[in-house]
Amino acid sequence: MISITDKSKCCGCAACAQKCPKQCISMEYDAEGCEYPVVNADQCIDCGLCEKACPVLNVDKDEPKSQRAFLVQHNDQKVLAESTSGGAFTALAQAVIANGGIVFGAGYLRGEQLVRAEGAPGRLKVGHFSVESVDELWRFRNSKYVQSVVGPAYPEVKQQLKTGREVLFIGTPCQCEGLLRFLGGKPANLRVADFVCRANPARAVFARQVEWLDAKVGVKGETVLFRDKSRFGYRYSNMCELEGETLYGERLYSEGVETDPYLRAFFADLSDRPICYECPFKKRYRVTDLTCWDFFDVYRLSKE
Ligand SMILES: Cc1cc2nc3c(=O)[nH]c(=O)nc-3n(C[C@H](O)[C@H](O)[C@H](O)COP(=O)(O)OP(=O)(O)OC[C@H]3O[C@@H](n4cnc5c(N)ncnc54)[C@H](O)[C@@H]3O)c2cc1C
Repeated sequence: MISITDKSKCCGCAACAQKCPKQCISMEYDAEGCEYPVVNADQCIDCGLCEKACPVLNVDKDEPKSQRAFLVQHNDQKVLAESTSGGAFTALAQAVIANGGIVFGAGYLRGEQLVRAEGAPGRLKVGHFSVESVDELWRFRNSKYVQSVVGPAYPEVKQQLKTGREVLFIGTPCQCEGLLRFLGGKPANLRVADFVCRANPARAVFARQVEWLDAKVGVKGETVLFRDKSRFGYRYSNMCELEGETLYGERLYSEGVETDPYLRAFFADLSDRPICYECPFKKRYRVTDLTCWDFFDVYRLSKE
């Protein structure tokens, strides 16, 4: 049975818990707000499926395969402004939805969706869920520098795949490898996209940041943008808190990488989930169809 004795050996993807035929594995949050599997040994039948589903115990080999690179910028200026980088993820998602497909990504959980992250600390929670309409894709836009709760997303992906629909799953490298371990392979109608992932800050740190922001601005904002391009564009990262649930509310707070304590901790590698410090998924050749990242070198290229 799965047993976490070293926290740096678990990414919290919950593939083990979702795979368990006896449903005797629960994901429990520690003081840092990171989830780890806990097995009810009385109910465990020792089938070993949890260990087989674990992406950390079965890391895919970093073996060379042919790769192509694209420089992508979305041609809708609104999408581009809301996205962390060039909006490639939205373009992919739009293509899948246009084919009648469904997209799983990470966004702020709202209303009834909050049960997906029950037990996670803080009042603003990021989790994985699905979207079927292009008008709803803004909920995924912008990178959230806090770990997303995968929750029941893997079995939901599986259910959608069974209907024959095209499914796109977007997540961290560990979440994507976890999905493929959970599924036991990559079905033809599944598209998987990850990104170059600096790290996943622990949720308790984000929860404290939001508490601090609440006290500082005297209002409870509903959205935090970790890179707000509306102020300085792509060249300079600043974090902001917005009034409402959309990406357009009034900016209640806005500080840059040197002055915001959360961004400073993130970029100084002080606040991450333990496994992120020795990420086994940081590979050149990945299980995903596509890996996105910030092409900061773009300014070195000619506009033509
Ligand atoms: C935690 C984190 C760390 C990153 N670190 C780097 C880095 O070091 N270097 C680099 O070049 N790029 C990094 N990126 C990726 C980068 O910020 C952009 O997301 C990427 O370049 C694609 O940009 P985009 O404009 O196409 O989409 P965006 O508008 O950025 O769309 C974001 C997509 O990522 C998903 N997503 C957002 N937050 C999370 C989350 N917490 N967990 C899982 N999925 C999430 C959403 O579902 C959405 O589809 C990081 C992203 C995240 C979330």
